[in-house]
Amino acid sequence: MKASISIPHSDIAVIHIESAKLKISDIKVHIIGAGIGGLTTALALAQNGVEVEVFEKASKFTNVGAGLQLSPNVMTVFSSLDLSKEVEASCCEPKAGILRDYKTGKALLTTRMQKDYQARYGHKYLHIHRADLIDTIAEAAQKAGIKIHFGAQVSSIRETETGTRLENIGKTHQANLLIVADGIRSFLREEIAGKSRPVFTGQVAWRGLVPTSDLPPETIPFAANNWLGPRQHFVSYYVSGGEMINFVAVQERSEWAEENWGIPADIGELKNAFKSWDPRVTSLIDACRNVYLWGLFDHPPLAKWTTKRMALLGDAAHPMLPFMAQGAAMAVEDAWVLTHCLINTPSNVSQALQNYEAFRKSRTTRLQKTSRENAALYHQASPLGRVIRKAKFKIATDIPSIAFSRLDKIYGVDVTQDFPILPV
Ligand SMILES: Cc1cc2nc3c(=O)[nH]c(=O)nc-3n(C[C@H](O)[C@H](O)[C@H](O)COP(=O)(O)OP(=O)(O)OC[C@H]3O[C@@H](n4cnc5c(N)ncnc54)[C@H](O)[C@@H]3O)c2cc1C
Repeated sequence: MKASISIPHSDIAVIHIESAKLKISDIKVHIIGAGIGGLTTALALAQNGVEVEVFEKASKFTNVGAGLQLSPNVMTVFSSLDLSKEVEASCCEPKAGILRDYKTGKALLTTRMQKDYQARYGHKYLHIHRADLIDTIAEAAQKAGIKIHFGAQVSSIRETETGTRLENIGKTHQANLLIVADGIRSFLREEIAGKSRPVFTGQVAWRGLVPTSDLPPETIPFAANNWLGPRQHFVSYYVSGGEMINFVAVQERSEWAEENWGIPADIGELKNAFKSWDPRVTSLIDACRNVYLWGLFDHPPLAKWTTKRMALLGDAAHPMLPFMAQGAAMAVEDAWVLTHCLINTPSNVSQALQNYEAFRKSRTTRLQKTSRENAALYHQASPLGRVIRKAKFKIATDIPSIAFSRLDKIYGVDVTQDFPILPV
């Protein structure tokens, strides 16, 4: 076995291990969770000749979750999975990212996207409905031969001497490797990482969708809009090819009593929370018919993501607040890197999983931290703090390289270059 180390763009050391004794097609993988992470992993593995089955507790794909922002670091993975054309078909490409004052709506910080992003990162920044993305990845994964079991809630997982076992509705299924991608409220995480619970952050998020035709034309600018107010913020952008407007409204509050983390909510409460905001925000809320409320939970980085034959992936491995819009992005990057590790070390699954954890941990831990810090930046309540923030934003608007120096560390990372998957 030969190992060489290089320092790629993401500043993570890559160990290229050459070993071609065991064929990748000998490995059977079970994935728990047909979310963005689970499905992307299934697709990447299946494209490389691995036999994959996915177990999903829902009886079908649901619409919950609303909009997602797809940054260039995700699009580079979809492009390498030959999926960017299909993904882009239902996306909207915002003209700019704009941070705004909550009352006047005036731009505080503007970052131009489109050509500027394409030139800088080689890929677009896009907005999509989560359901459209799930449908697209699932279709490609099924075409690549993976099997999805719906209504298959996994109740227990176990590693054996020779492989893995999962229990689902009294049936046992065996594989060589198990990937647990059951989301932020992962019930199975404990089996791999030990006991731990997500902590309520004191923030809730309403998510809603409004048909574009229900509002006067161009009420919401064609951008990634983010209105910043004291202890609150409001994000809005177009999805579904421009037919729908998505919003996420975040407010700080002291308690969250619900067992579920996304529940149908009272629009009156949302209207009241944002009543004195920019009229574009209030007219969007007024036009909304159904809204879901989410308690936002945080989780300290896990000490361990893997055992010899089981691995956590996506939100189950690194639950992340949505303030950098990178949760799904990190799940997609995980999927690629895990596939790279397995393809390079099929004869030693345990080593492959250790490599995956080592390659991914520093980046996801950094993003968990940055997402947390962004809440404080967005929700600045002190008048002096807001004056200082405004001045900093003005400088970053006038000198785009300042804003980009921060974004480059996130959007400029290309896991497909850093962790190449060569044809087997
Ligand atoms: C308000 C908000 C806004 C967000 N915006 C963005 C954004 O703009 N961009 C971005 O990149 N990310 C965003 N995110 C984060 C993103 O949605 C998540 O990080 C991403 O969906 C995680 O994918 P996943 O596959 O790990 O988990 P999930 O998508 O949660 O999927 C987990 C799956 O596992 C299934 N499951 C659970 N338990 C079991 C079981 N026992 N057996 C079988 N199946 C099971 C679930 O039904 C589900 O289908 C946002 C999150 C929130 C809350």
